[in-house]
Order: sequence, then C-alpha cells, then structure tokens
Amino acid sequence: MALVNEHFLKLPGSYLFSDIAKKVNTFKATHPDQDIIRLGIGDVTQPLAPACIEAMHKAVDEMANKSTFRGYGPEQGYDFLTEAIIKNDYTPRGIQLSNSEVFVSDGAKSDTGNIGDILHQDNNIGVTDPIYPVYIDSNVMGGRAGTLQENGKWSNIVYMPCTAENNFIPQIPDKKIDILYLCYPNNPTGTTLSKEELKKWVDYALVNDTLILFDAAYEAYIQDPSIPHSIYEIEGAKKCAIEFRSFSKTAGFTGIRCGYTVVPKELTGTTPQGERISLNSLWNRRQSTKFNGTSYITQRAAEAIYTPEGKEQIKQTINYYMTNARIMKDGLVACGLQVYGGENAPYLWVKTPKGTPSWRFFEQILHETHVVGTPGVGFGPSGEGYIRLTAFGEHDDCIEAMKRIKNRD
Ligand SMILES: *Cc1c(COP(=O)(O)O)cnc(C)c1O
Repeated sequence: MALVNEHFLKLPGSYLFSDIAKKVNTFKATHPDQDIIRLGIGDVTQPLAPACIEAMHKAVDEMANKSTFRGYGPEQGYDFLTEAIIKNDYTPRGIQLSNSEVFVSDGAKSDTGNIGDILHQDNNIGVTDPIYPVYIDSNVMGGRAGTLQENGKWSNIVYMPCTAENNFIPQIPDKKIDILYLCYPNNPTGTTLSKEELKKWVDYALVNDTLILFDAAYEAYIQDPSIPHSIYEIEGAKKCAIEFRSFSKTAGFTGIRCGYTVVPKELTGTTPQGERISLNSLWNRRQSTKFNGTSYITQRAAEAIYTPEGKEQIKQTINYYMTNARIMKDGLVACGLQVYGGENAPYLWVKTPKGTPSWRFFEQILHETHVVGTPGVGFGPSGEGYIRLTAFGEHDDCIEAMKRIKNRD
C-alpha cells in the first residue's frame, strides 16, 4: 500500500488561468467575429536573440562529433556559464561570488519550488500578498502551510499586504518569521523596492535569523539605476539570502528552460539542536542527487546572452516590452485609471474603478473591449480590486487595446 502525501490534497485547484480561459472561450463562442487581445499572459512572445540561436546551432554540431560530444555535465552547471554569470551579473555590482555558489538549473520555478527539500517542515513562512503562487503551493505540498482558512489564507503563513495604501511596500512583521519570500521587481504588481527598503528586510533577517528567498526573475527590466538588481547589493545579505534568477523573462527562455540560484557559502540554517549547517552544501547535495544538469546546448545559449551581441539583442527585446508597458500605462492613466508598476517591470497593476471586484472588471473589459487581463484576486486576497496586464504582447495589440479602453464609455 502506497500512502500518498496528503498535503497535496489540501491544495485547492489552481483555477485562475483555466477560469480565465473558460470565460474567454465562452465569449469567443458567443461573439465569433470579435478580435480578442490577450494582455493576461505571463509568457514572452518575441523570438530568441540571434546570438543564442547561433550558439545553440554550434553546440548541436559539437554533439554530432565524437571528439566534441558531451554527455552528463556537472549537476551545478558548466564553469563557462557560471563564470559568465558571476562576471556579468555580480562582479560589476561589487558582489564577489565563487563558481560553487552558483547553481545552474532549468528555471526559477523549479528552484523556488524545490528549495523546500532542504528546509524543515516546522518553519513558519512569510509572503507578500499578492504573490507568485508557486511559493505558497510548494509550501503546502511540503506540509508547512497549515490549513486553508475561510479568508483564503493559510494558517501557518504570514501574509504581508502590498496595496496602493502602503505604496506596495510590505510592512516588516512584528513577529519572527523563519522563511520569507520576496520577489522584486514584483510579479504581479510590477513594483520594486529601493535599496533602503530592501536593506530593512536584510536587517530584519539578520536580527531574527530569517532566511530570505529572493526571486529576481525580472531584474533585467529595471530601468531606474538606483534600484537593486540583486539582494547581495545589500550588506550582510550573503548571510541571510538565497537568490533565484531566470533567463526566461531576461532572454525569452520560457521554452528553452534555464535559470540559476545563488546559495552563498556563508549562509546557514540550523538543526533543531541549534547546530549551524551550510545551506550551500545541502543544496549541492540535493541538486547532485535529484538533478542531472541543464542541457549543454541550453547552457551555451545562456552563455551567449553575455556576449556583446547577445547583451545588445536582449536589451532590444526588453526595450520592446518596456515600450509596450509605457504605452499601456500612459493609455490607462489617460482614461483616469490608477496604474502601478510598468516602469521597472513588464507588469501593470491596475486599480479597478470605483472598487469594482477584480472578476467583475475582468468581465467588463472582456465584453466591452475584448481585452483579456488577469484578475488580481487570483494572486492573493490583497489583489482584490486590481487587475494585472502584461507588456509581453505585440506592440500593435497594445496600441489597439488602449484605443478600445479609451473609447469604452
Ligand atoms: C516567470 C517567473 C519566474 C521564472 O520561472 P522559470 O521557471 O525560470 O521560467 C520566476 N519567478 C517569477 C515570479 C516569475 O514570474
């Protein structure tokens, strides 16, 4: 008899995107002639940079040749990639890392979800609300979330509301939290934390022995030079934080699959008896046991992002999306809507007019303008009264969508 992990049974179905798809399909069936513009998707639309394509072709040819063929690579990633990562993403920001602190993976979703493998079940968890659902669901699976309450919150998770009222800056909790998730620039709100604000969290973590899990999947979208790209720009962060990064949004790798996680050598957790344990060695053990590396071809593609041509090409694509974001933000503000984010992130977090519930506003714009967004409440209780629009669409679609929203009433 195989007993199942019953924690999985506590998870409510993840209905957000399937509910959206259902509503859009119903609308399409009843309005077959209407042209629908999807601004709800969290996936990129522009093709890979030519530098990456070239690198992949070359790597494929190497695989065709006995003398250059590669089999299993290091589980932690090839040195050529970890070196490129350190040299380009960290050294210029004054952050010193060694190769053994960088773990190449197949993406940030896997790593943010799997990190719980090395953490005890009896930790309490803190999340900003709204939130990227992986952080919560993976803790439910690991038995750390407690029970789902009627207010939509889990009993062992501390929710830190991020709303227009606090300018989307979460308040430092007045209690001790063991593990804290921060995602900046933020999905879904598109907002950021300044160095001063992020420093408050690092200081809190150092005082309270909190582990910060910092998701920087959108750092490449930061335009304002004063905003930190890495949590390690803050003094002391190597003692309290793991950083997750991804090439998915940076370079259109959502289908290629590559990211990396930084676990500094000086970072420790503790046993129930109080012995300090290196998280770097635990994660290394976990990865070498359960993961057999990202494909060589993929890692060569990722390396190419850091060539002069690669950097220029991905910058152009990011500019394309950020131009969309600006057009959308200007268009929505001109309609009298309150819009947050969109300046250092590819997401716009739009306050629904007159306190309309997220789903009702979603239906309104679908029916009146045939534009699809994502109801904010789908990302957590504090997302109620907002809708998320992404800048990952086609340029002309963004312009057309704004025209329709403007002509709405
Ligand atoms: C898209 C996204 C990621 C990236 O996930 P991958 O698995 O690397 O594609 C990570 N975190 C957040 C918050 C995201 O929105």
